[in-house]
Amino acid sequence: MAGTKALLMLENFIDGKFLPCSSYIDSYDPSTGEVYCRVPNSGKDEIEAAVKAAREAFPGWSSHSPQERSRVLNQVADLLEQSLEEFAQAESKDQGKTLALARTMDIPRSVQNFRFFASSILHHTSECTQMDHLGCMHYTVRAPVGVAGLISPWNLPLYLLTWKIAPAIAAGNTVVAKPSELTSVTAWMLCTLLDKAGVPPGVVNIVFGTGPRVGEALVSHPEVPLISFTGSQPTAQRITQLSAPHCKKLSLELGGKNPAIIFEDANLDECIPATVRSSFANQGEICLCTSRIFVQKSIYTEFLKRFVEATRKWKVGIPSDPLASMGALISKAHLEKVRSYVKRALAEGAQIWCGEGVDKLNLPARSQAGYFMLPTVITDIKDESCCMTEEIFGPVTCVVPFDSEEEVIERANNVKYGLAATVWSSNVGRVHRVAKKLQSGLVWTNCWLIRELNLPFGGMKSSGIGREGAKDSYDFFTEIKTITVKH
Ligand code: NAD
Repeated sequence: MAGTKALLMLENFIDGKFLPCSSYIDSYDPSTGEVYCRVPNSGKDEIEAAVKAAREAFPGWSSHSPQERSRVLNQVADLLEQSLEEFAQAESKDQGKTLALARTMDIPRSVQNFRFFASSILHHTSECTQMDHLGCMHYTVRAPVGVAGLISPWNLPLYLLTWKIAPAIAAGNTVVAKPSELTSVTAWMLCTLLDKAGVPPGVVNIVFGTGPRVGEALVSHPEVPLISFTGSQPTAQRITQLSAPHCKKLSLELGGKNPAIIFEDANLDECIPATVRSSFANQGEICLCTSRIFVQKSIYTEFLKRFVEATRKWKVGIPSDPLASMGALISKAHLEKVRSYVKRALAEGAQIWCGEGVDKLNLPARSQAGYFMLPTVITDIKDESCCMTEEIFGPVTCVVPFDSEEEVIERANNVKYGLAATVWSSNVGRVHRVAKKLQSGLVWTNCWLIRELNLPFGGMKSSGIGREGAKDSYDFFTEIKTITVKH
């Protein structure tokens, strides 16, 4: 229960106005387990109103010049940057992540998303070819699609929402966005800035609530011709089913079961801290986190010893603790799900080196009911185990040995996902060879999570359909037409 403190009450943002909802759902502070916020439990009516506003705003917004839209996006970026600390505090409280991470990653990247697309929208060109023997020339034109439906998850709330809003409106679309019901606060705060920055009413509408209720109403709406979704594979399947009767354009950014491959010639001084970070950053709740670590046999024992030592130093603490590397997981249900994987590994005969069931959490009294868990390292586990094949999306990683390059490529590829992989080796030829053979939308070699926003981002196999990035997002959020002129 919420106690006596006043709860934060969110409202939908439709047609430039904050509107209350007839029903609400509770939102929890993951670091205490207490309800601290109430989120609109929107449904079909709210989606109807938001889509109407977005449709009405479309002719005006889409006829602005790219320069004018770019100016407005830059203005949003500037205002968000001025409020960085306030947004970081809110994101950390709502999601459970450390304040340090929200300050250095989530909110700065959200600012960058607006600035990046404000700039990139000015640089797209179209194609033109000639066919002199038939007296023709051909060229392409692009136009925004219309009302874009945007659905985002809880792990990087504002970061991933703005990664969709910015390219969608930069290209001239209007949007109806639905953030995760578990982390709605920073999206709601953003609405005030949109208005101040001069985003016209109806261009960005944000409707809060659950997936089955408001998410499905958005996906099923016949006047929303494209859906950009980031989230889990089962939800993507449902969205695909609901979109099929309308032949909607879909972009699906889904989960992963990301391998790190560590060869005997890797620089372990760099590899070990980077692999601890790639396994446990944001509580392991990043789709790009490493959860299967393949280590060449000759260095397996040394790697494991040093990796476990470094993991033990990855401090779990309340989100405001400046020394904490990891905060709380998103929800009680998620914490239980993540823990259940460790139990299943134990039942299969695996060994737990640190973390869950081995070490003790040290938290202040107020956070005893928070959703905390220690970073956990598992070994002696089969490739077929659910811990090695399913996305756990928490602070749990498995370390296994391998012999040869061919063998490890086959084992790394032997899961249904294909989002991100990491390769550690000082042999340049091997790095290129292995990167090329991995079934993965992104491969980092001798590093992790260095992003170039111009280049495609996304997964293969069950990790998604489509890519995001400067050109890819532009392609998705516009329709292309080929025109032939005979002279
Ligand atoms: P989720 O699929 O449960 O929810 C994502 C969003 O979809 C939420 O806003 C949710 O309310 C909504 N939703 C749920 N059911 C819906 C339905 N039936 N119709 C329409 N919308 C619905 O995912 P999550 O638990 O919020 O996020 C974790 C997942 O997201 C993980 O699988 C993770 O790997 C993935 N993810 C992928 C990327 C990427 O870029 N590839 C990035 C971050 C997270």
